[in-house]
Amino acid sequence: MTISKLARSIAESPTMRLNEEARRLRERGEAVIHLGIGEPKNKAPIQAILSSAAKLSGGDVKYTPTDGLPSLKKAIIHYTEKHYDRLVAPENVIVSTGAKQSIYNLLLSLVDPQDQVILLSPYWVSYPEMVKLVSGVPVIVTPADGGFHPRLQEIEAAVSSYTKAIILNTPNNPSGVVFSEAFLSELVDFCERRAIYLIMDDIYHQLVFDGARAAPGYRFTRAGVEDSKVLVVNGVSKLYGMTGFRIGWVVGPRRLVQVMTNLQGQITSNPSAISQAAAEGALTGGQGLVEVLRLTIQNNRDVMMRELTGLTELRTVCPQGTFYCLPDFSAYNKKSLELADFLLKKALVVTVPGSEFGAEGHLRLSFAGTLKDVKEGVERIKWALDPNAPSEIYIGDRKQVRDWL
Ligand code: PMP
Repeated sequence: MTISKLARSIAESPTMRLNEEARRLRERGEAVIHLGIGEPKNKAPIQAILSSAAKLSGGDVKYTPTDGLPSLKKAIIHYTEKHYDRLVAPENVIVSTGAKQSIYNLLLSLVDPQDQVILLSPYWVSYPEMVKLVSGVPVIVTPADGGFHPRLQEIEAAVSSYTKAIILNTPNNPSGVVFSEAFLSELVDFCERRAIYLIMDDIYHQLVFDGARAAPGYRFTRAGVEDSKVLVVNGVSKLYGMTGFRIGWVVGPRRLVQVMTNLQGQITSNPSAISQAAAEGALTGGQGLVEVLRLTIQNNRDVMMRELTGLTELRTVCPQGTFYCLPDFSAYNKKSLELADFLLKKALVVTVPGSEFGAEGHLRLSFAGTLKDVKEGVERIKWALDPNAPSEIYIGDRKQVRDWL
């Protein structure tokens, strides 16, 4: 079998692989705790269920316009006005099969071979692979101070005549950090002066804690949507915990949206009509559940932070958003993949190695699961890493023996 060079250069999504591994272990009856997961436990909003059920029971499930149902686009326009203070036209919006496809379509529409796309470390695992998929070159910018907040000077130093776009994700997966308004304002200004697209992956923008706010990128530009370099990506996956519906969207200049629509029309056509109906239901229904979800996740965050203090060698930045934190485990093991494998084997806890996000020595821990899982997951990690802990414990009815790394 001959596989293309491009396909061979693309790595498997590590989070998908870990989900698969956790599923296999669970099927074998193992008491696995999944702290790798990127989705909350809540049920889909009732309006989403009713709206998609109505579509399904009507039996009239057909192609929709490639760029999305007009009624869903109307709901997205309303959302954009409410949260971004921008009134956009239907021609500025394209709906895709998850924010993942939205970002991929954007890159496919913008990037020529060898064009560079700047990614800020720690970054979401899929960005570098997506850039490579469109024959672009990912350029990683890592904060020199070892922290998680990017600095404009460091980005500026990485810009070349090939730089086409910068991808920004705040609140940030995997660190949970919300980038400052001062930084965003400088970055938007810089991108507009240098004609570099700023792809704002806002998928977690309402999932912020302790009064933090992810500032909408449009606030820092006087340019209209047609001329601005700010491109907004959002979706229902994290906002409503509707990961399985696979609906995301982009707001941008109409010429770009038209090109993205052409591409999408040749690749997947419209996203599922049933899922679009669900997304419309969620966006137009009561929004109280977004706050309920936010408070639940914030409480989980508090519990995880409290539990982690028991690991004295750990260095943790308290997340201000998302459902992830990225503690520095290098005092225990500098090789995060090795440590994640060890924790899965010994403690039956799934974590995601920081090396996947450009943050070697760290592990990404998710607090999106149940409170019980968050507590017990961290308890087990503590047991596995603490040399003073009892050498044996029972996990379910299985006896686990701790041997030091
Ligand atoms: N961006 C980031 C930063 C994410 O974490 C995710 C999901 N893990 C996505 C985009 C993709 O979201 P969707 O489920 O809508 O494809």
